[in-house]
Amino acid sequence: MADGTYDVIVLGSGTGGYAAALRSAELGKKVAIVEKDDRLGGTCLLRGCIPSKALLESASVMDHVNRAEEWGIKASGEVDWPKVLETERHIVDKKVTGLTGLIKARKIEVIKGTGKLVEGPGVEVDGRTFTAPDVVLATGSFPRLLPGLEVSDRILTSDQALVREQLPRSVVIIGAGAIGMEFATIYRSFGARTTVLEALPRIVPLEDEAISKEAARAFKKKGIDAFAGVKVTEVKGAGDGVEVTYQPEGKDAQTVSADVCLVAVGRGPNSQGLGYEEAGIELDRNYVKVNGQLQTSAPHVWAVGDVAATPLQLAHSSFLEGIAVAERIAGQDVPEIDYAGVPRVTFSSPEISSVGLTEAQASERGHDVQTSTFNFQVLAKANIVGEGGIVKVVVEKDGGPVLGVHMIGPHVTELVEAASLMYNWEATPADIAAIIAPHPTLSEALGESFLALAGKPLHSM
Ligand code: NAD
Repeated sequence: MADGTYDVIVLGSGTGGYAAALRSAELGKKVAIVEKDDRLGGTCLLRGCIPSKALLESASVMDHVNRAEEWGIKASGEVDWPKVLETERHIVDKKVTGLTGLIKARKIEVIKGTGKLVEGPGVEVDGRTFTAPDVVLATGSFPRLLPGLEVSDRILTSDQALVREQLPRSVVIIGAGAIGMEFATIYRSFGARTTVLEALPRIVPLEDEAISKEAARAFKKKGIDAFAGVKVTEVKGAGDGVEVTYQPEGKDAQTVSADVCLVAVGRGPNSQGLGYEEAGIELDRNYVKVNGQLQTSAPHVWAVGDVAATPLQLAHSSFLEGIAVAERIAGQDVPEIDYAGVPRVTFSSPEISSVGLTEAQASERGHDVQTSTFNFQVLAKANIVGEGGIVKVVVEKDGGPVLGVHMIGPHVTELVEAASLMYNWEATPADIAAIIAPHPTLSEALGESFLALAGKPLHSM
């Protein structure tokens, strides 16, 4: 369809964009996606969630091999990094093929090229203008660097780290958010000397304080040097590697050398040079400003995913946004997203997940808070899988609903789905305690937490 007219044009084929496109097509709309990359899928599929989880799976196998004797198995192994990368690529290729097929099956047109928003609304691609009653901006984000730094063979962002042909023997990671924690896990599992430097006073600073504490302990046990509350003052090349200087508060500056430095200090929005401002789109620190309905300041232009000024930059929050926008375009009445109800996951070892409010946030918002902390070590299944951790539950005092669930430990990125239902359905400890978790499973950590809160702890005191 050349210079065609569509019902909906989506700019960008990442998770937010393809969710909006797929749902719009399901609702009977004629949809086009504009994509400049050779392949569909955006950051999450091509250079984010999926390849990193593939590397983390290889890292976890390495950990199991190294610990095999604990389960009565004599084994030894070493990493074959090119093969690890091949496995990663194979998984990404498979999912790209799947997504491309799905887009085709829903009869969504893919327009290859760099799209520019124009008033109308419409999208201009290589001199051709496509118009539609509704346009969805889903142009995603890029990894930020620190001022003065440039990517090189020694200074990396996650984009380079995911495809780097050599496995470093030592690494300094700047930032202990999701990306920093996940790469620290990967590199340490493959034997690299790993240092993590975080500016805020604790690692995983957005999580409940109890989780940060537990994560710091677990990283220490794994042999990761993680320093929080430090200011990175210099990153410079030295020999074949890098030297990173940092200043712990109130102490002398320290310098650490490594093969590479991975910068994981957050992601910035892809909103420049795309005609946004010229087409009347208001930006806030370069993010596209949206209202609760995800409408931008220009009529019939919507924004989803990392480029939108919403509280979360997560693949699955962008799914929710893309679906909501498609449904609103189709005339459906869709409630605003409660971002606190979107589960957060970090695939470090141990894994971290949470949903709802931290204890501090709940107190700040005026809730009369009660908490309960359950230790995974109490559970037979946790002993069998050989991992510990905690579940911390925050509820409204005296039988009120769940306000937040915070977990660190084995497979908690899976367990959080149940916690998410509890939070989003405003369940109370009594509701949950009446439902028993299967035994012996890790899911008992959640069940037991609520048994305790309901005043009838089973295996804990
Ligand atoms: P982030 O915002 O999660 O973490 C960045 C960390 O770097 C923060 O803790 C911040 O305090 C710290 N930092 C910033 N400047 C610093 C400095 N100068 N020195 C030391 N520390 C500094 O960002 P990210 O980890 O880069 O991830 C980017 C985005 O992608 C986030 O929104 C993240 O949630 C998302 N993501 C999610 C997952 C997942 O859900 N598992 C995985 C990867 C990325």
